[in-house]
Amino acid sequence: MKIDKIQTFIARVPLGQQQFYSSQCAFPERKSLLVSVETDSGITGWGEGGQYGPAEPVASCVEQVFAPRLKDRDPIEREVIWHELYSATRDFGQKGAYIEAMSALDIALWDIAGQALGEPVGRLLGGCFRSSIPAYATGCYYRGREYLDGNLKEVAAEAHSYREGGFRMLKMKIGLLEVARDLERVAAVREAVGPDYALLVDANHAYNAATACRVARSLERYGVRWFEEPVPPEDRDGYRAVRRAAAVPVAGGECEYTRYGFRELIAGGCVDIAQPDLCVAGGFSEWLKIAALAQSFGVWVIPHVWGSGVALAAALHALAALPPFPHTANPIPLQNEPVIEFDRNPNPLRDQLLEEPIAIASGRIGVPQAPGLGIRINPSVLRQYATPYQVAAC
Ligand code: CA
Repeated sequence: MKIDKIQTFIARVPLGQQQFYSSQCAFPERKSLLVSVETDSGITGWGEGGQYGPAEPVASCVEQVFAPRLKDRDPIEREVIWHELYSATRDFGQKGAYIEAMSALDIALWDIAGQALGEPVGRLLGGCFRSSIPAYATGCYYRGREYLDGNLKEVAAEAHSYREGGFRMLKMKIGLLEVARDLERVAAVREAVGPDYALLVDANHAYNAATACRVARSLERYGVRWFEEPVPPEDRDGYRAVRRAAAVPVAGGECEYTRYGFRELIAGGCVDIAQPDLCVAGGFSEWLKIAALAQSFGVWVIPHVWGSGVALAAALHALAALPPFPHTANPIPLQNEPVIEFDRNPNPLRDQLLEEPIAIASGRIGVPQAPGLGIRINPSVLRQYATPYQVAAC
């Protein structure tokens, strides 16, 4: 089997009045960079990358730098290919667009390998500890009206709706407003979901270390299960300070890349929970190294998930094959068993792009059982939202 053709697609869906905000940016649209890798055997693999910034530079890395190297290569040799692509771009591409491009390609190669062997990716990763994953709702972003007038009824109602909808865990946003106002927000959500509900808080690196330490001590009062990205990703000392400041576990890593970046976060004692994104940090091949590294340091690894149904499917397979933390005789949901991030903001690329959309039932999402990623792209939806970046380079 040989790689025959690689294409990138930039899918965009404007959100109009549904625009929402984190502490760092507005989301006027949803977008995904999708990559297809076609083989001469008729198997096509799909991957996704470029989760945060503009998709075009990542598409360019795929099309102009990596695709010519992959023409006629054996897609089964994904580890060999990963090292070759990384070493070819090491001098200028250790983080950012190049690694996101490699992530998309690596996910597609694992999809191909699974289809060729007739096995779901989760089984290729070593086997599945579970066939479904408890989902946590990622929501309670800032909406326009609340931001303007400080009305907390909407965010409270949204939080309550997740609990009513079967989610047992919710991640909310802070960091856009003054600390006092954001803590009022946390209080409103805590009251809406009840005292024992699993609540996570994400600042998207809005704070300096001193402010983040103050926030962390306040979050203790609200029984927060983890404080995500309290400080900028480069501020390793800041991460350590937040961990020392309060008993709230610290999570981070969605802006980090490869085993080398995570080595600093994990071995440096920066996080309790490492959060590589499969579509950012280096694909399945790199996920395996990061997960092993984390385990060896007693750090939990829970992937960051954002994007289309392709990204979601990839995370489901990775989580199916992740051991309980620790591997105990009686793993307890939400305590030793991993959870999957399920973004609840509007995104047709998550809900419509797959022929069989990934759905939640009783708070859990089933791991696709068909070979490879176990997904089929709906061609008409792809045409509706996406355009090929340019003529395929190979
Ligand atoms: Ca986050």
